[in-house]
Amino acid sequence: MTARVLDGTAVAAAIRAEAAPAVAAFTAHAGRPPGLGIVLVGDDPASEIYVRGKLKSASEVGLRADLERLPSTAPLSAVLAAVDRLNRSDVHDGILVQSPLPPAMGEDAGRRVFDAVDPAKDVDGLHPANVGRLVQNRAVLASCTPAGVIEMLERSHVAIAGARAVVIGRSDIVGKPMALMLLHRHATVTICHSRTANLPQVAAEADILVAALGRPAFVTRAFIKPGAAVVDVGTTHVSDRELVERLFPPGSKRHEAFLRRGSLVIGDVHPEVAEIAGALSPVPGGVGPLTIAMLLKNTVRAAEERVMGR
Ligand code: NAP
Repeated sequence: MTARVLDGTAVAAAIRAEAAPAVAAFTAHAGRPPGLGIVLVGDDPASEIYVRGKLKSASEVGLRADLERLPSTAPLSAVLAAVDRLNRSDVHDGILVQSPLPPAMGEDAGRRVFDAVDPAKDVDGLHPANVGRLVQNRAVLASCTPAGVIEMLERSHVAIAGARAVVIGRSDIVGKPMALMLLHRHATVTICHSRTANLPQVAAEADILVAALGRPAFVTRAFIKPGAAVVDVGTTHVSDRELVERLFPPGSKRHEAFLRRGSLVIGDVHPEVAEIAGALSPVPGGVGPLTIAMLLKNTVRAAEERVMGR
């Protein structure tokens, strides 16, 4: 069997196309487009790429998108001040502080920054008020990556109600909200993590397996129930040639991409899983584009709620 491809790029394009009329309607009503303010601290190369993608996609659908950059040496107070300015701005409906913050800022810096964002503008869905709403299944703004996974599963006609779902990873940004969203759609959900015993056996019970651990090619065929839908959230930049060649033989497209760039983004799911899964999201071209599409959707939603009261 070769798994059906869960095409995140196509689903993301559909979501962006659906957002366009809502952006036009909001702009006509408010006399300005929905606005997104992004704060980027430091010069992490992966974050630079993600932020560039977010700015480009936002302007393509007609949103206003502004970037505030801070040096990696900036104190936490400078990030909080940038968030405060965006909280008070009339033209910014959504605020995103790009993760990760520089480690020197301290272990709880992320929490303190996310707590400072106005919940009505929290397009990342990380404020405790929005997390609480998600727990109660009445979220308006929910974490973009798991929300994108749900869109991908639903629009690809993967049945969620009644399915056994296993989520590997329990982060606040992916694993936990993912599990809640699957639960609210009536899956029977198991959350796994680094202390889970017999992980491959637990994963192999899943009709829907979501891998969000950040360990390249960790999920092998031993983790898969034949025919399962497998969603690969992981993105790790790998420059280890030996690892790349073990996964992608010389002559393959991905190997050639590695030779051109000197590194490759690799998911958590081993390529051999395509032989046994029923459906599989690729990396790249799976969850990544959906995360951005959901950010745009959340920004439009936040703008409508704030200005038009719905
Ligand atoms: P994270 O905060 O590092 O969390 C990773 C989770 O995986 C933790 O819960 C950890 O367990 C678990 N884990 C790690 N090693 C494991 C192992 N050997 N066995 C079982 N569980 C293990 O990462 P994250 O922010 O959730 O992101 C996960 C991955 O998704 C990363 O590769 C990230 O780059 C990617 N990501 C992609 C997108 C996208 O748009 N495509 C968006 C967000 C994240 P413990 O809790 O026990 O430590």
